[in-house]
Order: sequence, then C-alpha cells, then structure tokens
Amino acid sequence: MIPFLDLKSINAQYRTELIEACTRVIDSGWYIQGNECKEFEKEFAKYCGTEYAIGVANGLDALILILRAYKELGVIKDGDEVIVPSNTYIASILAISENNLVPVLVEPDINTYLIDPSKIEKKITLKTKVILPVHLYGQTCNMDEINDIAKKYNLKVIEDSAQSHGAYFKGKKTGNLGDASGFSFYPGKNLGALGDAGAVTTSDGELANAIKALGNYGSNKKYENLYKGVNSRLDEIQAAMLRVKIKHLDEETNRRKEIAIYYLENIKNENIILPTVRTNDNHVWHLFIIRTKQRDELQKYLLDNGIQTLIHYPLAPHKQEAYKEWKNESYDISEQIHDEVLSLPISGVQSFENTIKIVKAVNEFN
Ligand SMILES: *Cc1c(COP(=O)(O)O)cnc(C)c1O
Repeated sequence: MIPFLDLKSINAQYRTELIEACTRVIDSGWYIQGNECKEFEKEFAKYCGTEYAIGVANGLDALILILRAYKELGVIKDGDEVIVPSNTYIASILAISENNLVPVLVEPDINTYLIDPSKIEKKITLKTKVILPVHLYGQTCNMDEINDIAKKYNLKVIEDSAQSHGAYFKGKKTGNLGDASGFSFYPGKNLGALGDAGAVTTSDGELANAIKALGNYGSNKKYENLYKGVNSRLDEIQAAMLRVKIKHLDEETNRRKEIAIYYLENIKNENIILPTVRTNDNHVWHLFIIRTKQRDELQKYLLDNGIQTLIHYPLAPHKQEAYKEWKNESYDISEQIHDEVLSLPISGVQSFENTIKIVKAVNEFN
C-alpha cells in the first residue's frame, strides 16, 4: 500500500538530530518558556521575514489569540464581522466564533480553491473589521487584491498559514503578507512537530506583546495579569523538534515540488481536473488536489490498486452540525469542491517509483 502520508519515515530522516535535541531539553531541567522556545521564535520570525514570532500551543490557538489580542487592543469588538473563505478547514472559522465575532463566508475561485477577491467587497458591511485569507492546500492567496481591499476599508488582514509554510507571494513569504498570521505545526503539516504546536507571526510589536501575554494567563511578568488570558504555550520539547525540522523544510518543500510537477506534467485523464498554479514559488504543495465528478469511484479504484488517498474536506463548513444556523444557505462553488476533490499522496519521503505508480493508476481510471 502506498500511504497517504508516512509520518514515521518523515521523522526517521532526522532521528539522530531529534534525539539529540530531545536529550538537550531533558538535561536542561527547563521545560516551558525556556531557551528552545525563544530560539525557535527567532528562527521562525527570520524564516518568515517578520519582526516577531510567538510560539503557542497549536494552530487554532494562534488564530484565536490574534483575534483576541485585537479585541483587547480595542481594534475589534464582539459582533464584528470577519471575512473568511467558505471552503476552508473548520479551524479558521472556529477561531472567529470563539471570539464572539461573526464569520462571513466568501466563495473561492473554482480553479485555485482560494478565496475569490472579486467577491469580497460585496460582503463588506460597517461591521467588517478583518479579512482572514487561507492559503489553502499550500498556495498563497492573491494578497495584492486582498490587501488593497483591506486598505480601502481599513480592515486587518490575518493570514491562516497553517498549510503554507515557506510559500511566497511576490518575493515575500506567508506569515509576512498581512498584519498577522497563524501557523500550525501539527505533525502532518509541512513543518510538523511531534505533537501539537503553533505560532503567530507579525511585525506589530504591540500585537505581539498582547498575544504573548494572552497565551500565558494574560501575563508578561510573573503574577501580574494584564488580561484574562489562557494557557497556550509552545513547550520546550516541541520547540526543540521544530528547530531541527525547520532546517530541512526547504529541501522537503523542493521534493514536494518535484512530485507536484511530475503529477502536473504526466497525469492525463479527461475526467480529471488538475490544480491551477499561479507561479512555482506560490505553492508549497501541502496537498495535491485533483477534481472529478467520479470522486468516490476514483478513491475506491485507487485503494483497490494499493494507493491511499484522502478528501480535504468531505463536508463544507456551512453544512456542519456545529454551524446549523447556516443550514439554509448555499455556497455552490464550495459545495462542488467538497463533492469533487481528492488528495493524492505527496510528501518529502515519497519515492519516485511510487509517484510513477500513482500517475499510471490515475491515468488508467475511466
Ligand atoms: C491545521 C489547520 C489549522 C489548525 O491547526 P491545529 O494546529 O490543528 O490547531 C487551522 N487552519 C488550517 C487551514 C489548517 O489546515
């Protein structure tokens, strides 16, 4: 069986380095908010090109804390509206609801699966305060158009970069394309820890300080509480794992790109639609998505041929029980995407032999 994602092999590449890093933490006697977290924050900010990176417990918390900090700083308030793509992973939307803000769904472009900037302005009201673009599947959104709209209406731009570590838009990396950005280092992401982890990047010092405090009980100084904060910190072990893995991120991304290019050039099946890529730099291929009307049949056929695939995602957010208030709304493009997409295996450890097998099987499907 060709697995969808072989995490064990991915981490086995760095086994010696990971064990060394783990030992360093064990022997330091310091397990929360120590040197590893501090150094990783510096390294990650430098990687993204921002002034600050703040380690947090996971990607959802990263987004929750950015919005929460803007509330504490008086930029937004309960009931304000946040524009978010209708086909995103549910976490982007949960971060908005969690803050008593209102998610306003905007349809994606059917070719790129990214929020369609031409549909944003129609959804802006006096309550709109934030646009939350998601660089879904690893491809950066059209940030020029999004930032122009944000400027025109005085909105904050919060990137959801959970799937796009290292992707560029016109020479700048995700995490540095808006006012602030949330990252996830869930084990299966392009930069994955060995457990839950996340970070916020920003070049706004006031925002960075508020987020740092909010994730630490609302405190920047022991026993002095500025805010009613939470506990959401990046622990030393995960920071140490990430410091090993970030050194290898670009080479892993390059291997993903080689697989993606091979798929794009060699998958030839009139029933299958390949992903649309703006430029080679814009995409880090967190997922390789194909689309077909016979999605379920194709998935079963590939499984019968020893190839595991997944669906990202099977059910649109507005169809979820958690958001039953949207039950009667329809987002046609999003629904079509959720019915038709299939994710082929792609990773930094996939062999060329397996990539060829996958292409051959996909081409023989009818
Ligand atoms: C994974 C993911 C998140 C959430 O990250 P966690 O670390 O799992 O909390 C948020 N947004 C998107 C688009 C994601 O893919």
